[in-house]
Amino acid sequence: MAAPREWLGTVEAEGIAGRQGSSGVEVVFPSDPATPAPLCPHGPTLLFVKVNQGKEETRRFYACSACRDRKDCNFFQWEDEKLSGARLAAREAHNQKCQPPLSRTQCVERYVKFIGLPLSQRKFCQRCQQLLLPDDWEKHQEHRVVGDISITQLKRPSQLLYPLENKKTNAQYLFADRSCQFLVDLLSTLGFTRVLCVGTPRLHELIRLKASGEKKSNIKSLLLDIDFRYSQFYMEDSFCHYNMFNHHFFDGKAALEVCRTFLQEDKGEGVIMVTDPPFGGLVEPLAVTFKKLIAMWKEGQSQDSSQKELPIFWIFPYFFEFRIRQFFPSFCMLDYQRFHRTFICVDEAMKYGCMLEVDYDNHALYKHGKTGRKQSPVRIFTNIPPNKIILPSEEGYRFCPLCQRYVSLENQHCEHCNSCTSKDGRKWNHCFLCKKCVKPSWIHCSICSHCALPDHSCGGPKDGCFICGELDHKRSTCPKITTSKKVNNTLFFRAVRKQKQRKSNKMKMGTTKGQSMNHTSVTRKKRRRERAHQYLCS
Ligand code: SAH
Ligand code: ZN
Ligand code: ZN
Ligand code: ZN
Ligand code: ZN
Repeated sequence: MAAPREWLGTVEAEGIAGRQGSSGVEVVFPSDPATPAPLCPHGPTLLFVKVNQGKEETRRFYACSACRDRKDCNFFQWEDEKLSGARLAAREAHNQKCQPPLSRTQCVERYVKFIGLPLSQRKFCQRCQQLLLPDDWEKHQEHRVVGDISITQLKRPSQLLYPLENKKTNAQYLFADRSCQFLVDLLSTLGFTRVLCVGTPRLHELIRLKASGEKKSNIKSLLLDIDFRYSQFYMEDSFCHYNMFNHHFFDGKAALEVCRTFLQEDKGEGVIMVTDPPFGGLVEPLAVTFKKLIAMWKEGQSQDSSQKELPIFWIFPYFFEFRIRQFFPSFCMLDYQRFHRTFICVDEAMKYGCMLEVDYDNHALYKHGKTGRKQSPVRIFTNIPPNKIILPSEEGYRFCPLCQRYVSLENQHCEHCNSCTSKDGRKWNHCFLCKKCVKPSWIHCSICSHCALPDHSCGGPKDGCFICGELDHKRSTCPKITTSKKVNNTLFFRAVRKQKQRKSNKMKMGTTKGQSMNHTSVTRKKRRRERAHQYLCS
């Protein structure tokens, strides 16, 4: 059947822009679910419904919460479908088979052994993305293996790990060092002592580095992430394999308790949650999850602090502001815009056996982008009063006493709107007919009676971008969502399988090893370079 999964994620954006005449898929959260959702390898599935403008709801179905591409998880079941015992058993077996090969405890045991080895015996297999113990060496003989893994490297797994099949649709958007540093300093200035990192492995890493560094900070961190590879580098109390779209702990109750204990320590004092979910994710399931984490924190509160909220930083594109505020009305959007994530240069990395990173700010390709303007759409949404969050003046921020928040220099206070209205770092202009500030590139159109780009098509259906709702480009060229989707171990194992396949194909073709290696590595290199270029210029 033509499953409508590919539509996922576009619906959210439509919601924001209020566009009409399109269809999409929505998540439904039945207030009183008659039956629990069936399970896929990523935990409980979500209930979806395909919606067509002006038509009745169609049949509802369950699908994977984490994977928005059927290639990654093809779970599908009609809501009213009855499965035979045999099919249920087959599904159960499939779910088991898809779980990581090592249990959480095994990973920890391996890690302890690993750090006990002398430097010369500490190896990492790049192909399998695995720390190797001497017993494993033989199996990985033919693989690209890096040796002499230092303790420093072990403390920075996000540099050691390979970016997963780095397609346009899924990339691990790691923070640039400067942004990450800014976040850690901010958390420390605000006096937090514990950080629940949900999908922020690099932030987790930096917090822990600081805690063990010379000028000891006393911040603790717990990482929840679906990228299972991280479990090789952390003990049980600092990493849980977790799906943030359904609040699923892959390692069951023990992991849930780790999270609960972390949130409730010190009666819940001093803790903040920081999250940077994949953009393509639907906002509602995320909001539902975050509310569950908030509830968990609340349970540990004393009665007199029942009014308090769990402090949160939710890092997400600015065009989701409306959606986020629907679920969390107390959240405001900060103007901090220098979030450029680092790009991981695979070719170069191969030479050094680790990841090399390039800061967007300094990257030639990025500067040659279409507009020459830095266009990070990413912002911080938070329930912490914005006047407490000092943005660095040396990076071009000032305090607006009227708005009581820090804004970028270009973001001027509009006396008519009584606020600093720019969302994208450019100066916006006030339109008296629309009674609001609009982007500098827009002019008021008397036919449409609102502001739009000068060359828009009047009166026609709003045929802007399906992803962000903006009218100046189409979905295929949306500069904002080249990201999204999930990064998880399914992909990781798929990548591994693919490589194995390539290798066996090569053997079947009977080419000599040297030749075939050269050929494939050259084309692969070329493809990667193209991809990098595309990515940086979008
Ligand atoms: N900027 C962050 C990384 C954000 S990339 C940093 O530098 O720390 C998004 C992160 O979310 C990745 O680590 C990815 O593995 C994780 N992720 C993606 N889908 C997820 C899911 N369903 N549940 C939990 N984590 C997920
Ligand atoms: Zn799944
Ligand atoms: Zn290997
Ligand atoms: Zn205005
Ligand atoms: Zn106008």
